[in-house]
Amino acid sequence: MPIFEYVCRTCQGTFESLVMPGENEGPVCPHCGGRDVEKLMSAGAIRPHGIPTGGGGWKLPKCAKAAQAKQG
Ligand SMILES: [Zn+2]
Repeated sequence: MPIFEYVCRTCQGTFESLVMPGENEGPVCPHCGGRDVEKLMSAGAIRPHGIPTGGGGWKLPKCAKAAQAKQG
């Protein structure tokens, strides 16, 4: 599973969280419980035991964006 590192804008604390496919809501800060978190693109996200090397990179949920555009 992909593990991403996040930083909390409320308390500036950093933490890691699993991201499930289709998950829309961001994780909650374990330090202060805030939801105002930002995903970090750090090398810490790459783990030797959890690298999905089966395809050609990340697949973005295009269909979700398309649906939002239609709902406008
Ligand atoms: Zn926090």
